[in-house]
Parts: sequence; C-alpha cells; structure tokens
Amino acid sequence: MDIISKIKTSNGTIKTPALLPVCALTYGVWDVFIEEKVIPPWKLSEATMFSLEYVRNTKYEEKVSDGFHKLFTEKKPIFVDSGGFQSMKKGIERDPIDVLRFQEKLKADVAATFDYPVPLNIDNSEYILMLEKSINSANLALQNKKRKEMLLYACVHGFSDKEIDWYFSKLDHDFDGYAIGSLVPRKNDYKSLIKIIYRAKMHTHKREKPLHLFGVTGFPMLYALSFMGVETMDSWTYLVASIYKEYIHPETLKRVRMRKVGDIPKCECFVCSEFGMDDFLGATSVPQAYLAIHNLNIFMREMKLINEHVNRNSIEELIEEKSKKNQRIKLVYDYAKNYLKNNKIIE
Ligand SMILES: [Zn+2]
Repeated sequence: MDIISKIKTSNGTIKTPALLPVCALTYGVWDVFIEEKVIPPWKLSEATMFSLEYVRNTKYEEKVSDGFHKLFTEKKPIFVDSGGFQSMKKGIERDPIDVLRFQEKLKADVAATFDYPVPLNIDNSEYILMLEKSINSANLALQNKKRKEMLLYACVHGFSDKEIDWYFSKLDHDFDGYAIGSLVPRKNDYKSLIKIIYRAKMHTHKREKPLHLFGVTGFPMLYALSFMGVETMDSWTYLVASIYKEYIHPETLKRVRMRKVGDIPKCECFVCSEFGMDDFLGATSVPQAYLAIHNLNIFMREMKLINEHVNRNSIEELIEEKSKKNQRIKLVYDYAKNYLKNNKIIE
C-alpha cells in the first residue's frame, strides 16, 4: 500500500518508512547520552520516540519544562507517547488533558493521545469499555489541543477487522495521524499482527494520514511493515539487548549473548571499528551505551537499505538476500504479501 513518504514537523521532516528509537530521561545510560559521552540515539535516526512516563519524575523534568529540544544539541523531530502502556502497567490512570498539556509543554513535534492499552486475557465487556475510553480520550484531546505546531496522533486499538472499523468510525477525521497500540503483548503472533495492521492501514490510507506502530519491531516485522506501507515504527530492542549484554549480529540480525559465545562477529559500524567485546561487557553505563549504539547502528543500516529498496521498488530482492541469513524475514514477508493479495488490498 502507498506510503506517505514525508511527515513534516516543526523540527524537520521525517522520511519514511522510519524507525524511531525509544528513549527515556531516566538514570544511567541516558546521562551518558545526554552528555554525549557516547553518540546518542537521537543523532542517528530520522526522529526519536520519548516515552512520557520516562520523562516525568526524572531529574531532567524541570529542565525540559519549557521545551524538550533544549536538552539536545541538534533539533530533530520528537514523538512523545502518552505513557498509556506504562500507566496501565503501573495501574495509574492519567487525565487525558493533563497528558496533552504535558506534551505541549515539552513542545513535542508529534504526540499520541492518552490511551488504555488492552492486556492479554481481558474479558469482553471490560475490553469494549477500554476501547471506548481510548476513543473518547483521543477525541477530547483533539478538541482541546492548543499548540498548533504539534501533530496529534490518535491511538488506535482493536483486534478484529470489525473492531478496527468501528474504532475508526468513532474517531474524528482531523487527527494528523494514527498510532496503533496494544500489540506488544502479542508481538510473537505475526499473523494476527499483520491482519490488524493491514486493517488500520486501510483506514489511514483512506484518510491520507500516516500510521505509526508502537513497539513491535524485530527485523522480520521491520521488513514486512515497511512493505505494508506503515510510515513509522518504534523500538527499544537495541537498548533492551544491551542490558542483557546482547549484540545484534550484523548478518543474521539475531541477538547474540556475548558471554555465551565468547566472541562477536565482525562489524563495520563506527562503534565496532573502535571498540570490541571487552569494551561492551563492563558493568557501567558507558559500555552499555556503546553496545546499545552498535545495536542501533544495525537497525539504522537495515532501515536505510529498506528505504533505498522501497524507492527503487526492489524490496523483494532485498528480502531474498536477507533471508539467506535469517529465514524468518521471508516467512513474515511472504505471509504479508499473500494476505494482501488474498484480500485484494489495493497496492
Ligand atoms: Zn557494530
């Protein structure tokens, strides 16, 4: 399906498909990045995703209270989520308007509306109620938005075509984009994900607005989602892997537990040309930051390749090539391609 190739924000344009690294302002590794002791994630990507709950109540909260961008040496688009997922996990309920005002205060370039992500094993009556709350919260935020420059994305939930159709029918048409959530607990079920994402993409395509996908981005999904025309996605796999001392293999794109294998494969990224396994294994934040940036470099390298091939219309060639080292890339892609064909979804 067609992709909206550029998303214009008040701090620059996001060329799509784009992967936004998820960042926070919490302790340790983030201090290293903010002080630029190690090149930070936000210098390597088109845009960055900040998680609101990981900005609130941090020592940086005061500093960013009149604009996020002051903290960074380079101005690039910043997407601030609503913290709905973390709030759900912590059992806190936020006021949607309060969340919106905080995003406005931070001068987010893109903000997502406060939502109520659906956990696994929820009973049906409660589930529909949560969907309704997310819809109301999104429409309410749109009516109350004050900061014109900030793009507002409505959070979308639903697990069947019918639910997604209903959800979109209840959403106002004036959002700048849409962001689909609740998929993290289901991220291993690629068949269901593809079905849900296609349905959402059909609606955003009709409305001529971009679609963002929260938190589901292993490499096989990254390829399939780009093929499906999803404009932006976010991931913090690069960072989570670094916490476990896992190194993303530059060829198989799989996470390698360094202590277990005792060796790391050759990598040409700017971190690995200067540092090696011993530099990544230390227990402090700097080695972790280096490892995270190697991991992110691999994500960004793949994203760049995907972009080039999407533009040249040769994504299949790239998938064939990548599948030699990682068969799951082809498996997920083939499923997406057949799903599109069988459902006669217009390309
Ligand atoms: Zn590397």
